Amino acid sequence: MIVALSGGVGGAKLALGLSRVMPPEQLLVVCNTGDDFEHLGLCISPDLDTVMYTLAGLANPEVGWGRRDETWSFMETLAEIGGETWFRLGDRDVAVHVERTRRLRDGQSLSSVTAYLCAKLGVAPRVLPMSDDPVRTRVRTDAGWLDFQDYFVRLRCEPVTRELAFHGAESAHPQPAFIAALGDPGLQAVVICPSNPFISIEPILAVPGVREALVACSAPVIAVSPIIAGRAIKGPTAKMMTELGMDPSAGVVADRYSDFLDGYVIDHADMAEVVSIDAKVTLAQTLMTTLEDREALARTVLDAAAVLRRRR
Ligand code: GDP
Repeated sequence: MIVALSGGVGGAKLALGLSRVMPPEQLLVVCNTGDDFEHLGLCISPDLDTVMYTLAGLANPEVGWGRRDETWSFMETLAEIGGETWFRLGDRDVAVHVERTRRLRDGQSLSSVTAYLCAKLGVAPRVLPMSDDPVRTRVRTDAGWLDFQDYFVRLRCEPVTRELAFHGAESAHPQPAFIAALGDPGLQAVVICPSNPFISIEPILAVPGVREALVACSAPVIAVSPIIAGRAIKGPTAKMMTELGMDPSAGVVADRYSDFLDGYVIDHADMAEVVSIDAKVTLAQTLMTTLEDREALARTVLDAAAVLRRRR
């Protein structure tokens, strides 16, 4: 079994690669839910959905969120009647949020609703929220504290980030199957996907017991850098690092995981950083443009994990 920790777009790319180079039912993808929010009366889980749509082959390849072959009648009609349209929800996507919301209000857990939706959409790997309890990322900016989607979507990450907080994390319980997988003697590796450390991976690590379980885990923990040559491929990772007073580099991301990181995959472009990284570094092409790139990087990660296992 392989456990992969993921945010949205960057994480989903590697999760898809992994699902194609190993038996997919042996892959457990644990997603950030700090981006979740209620909007228009609906429970929306952006990272779970990005991963689910990507693994189902339904993701919109152009924008990186939502579904392909989408139609927009709901949004158009909402705009006509003066509704809130800053968070775009396609018609097919809305159906998923409506069904998730109905099931959650019926008392089902987010993990069981996610398992149900994944089964309906034909997703072979197991996809789990980090917790069934609500955790909400908030961003302190020059404009004050903002709810995550206000910062991320409505304000397009423009306000300068000063601090992050994960509301509810301190009283949240990690999803039990996630913690059980980290303690499973059959676990082969934990993969930290190339996701934003501050808003995708650290909310997962903020759930009590997760960090400790990663430190104690008998399988190697191996991360892929979301930063290539000082830049993020997409999204605010590098901008946030600069605003938080950090150098936007692959090595600085690794430092944030230093208490549990065994292996780190960085791009050839960042070769000069190898000496400063306190983990076994593997150089690779880490930009995933094609499906082949996703599979090749997934193979590199699994091979690196196998080497680390043999050394133990
Ligand atoms: P979000 O929740 O949708 O913002 O997605 P994630 O946090 O999972 O991913 C955002 C991060 O993924 C950014 O830091 C990007 O630099 C990184 N990323 C996206 N595509 C790639 C890629 O092809 N290779 C690597 N190494 N990182 C990527």
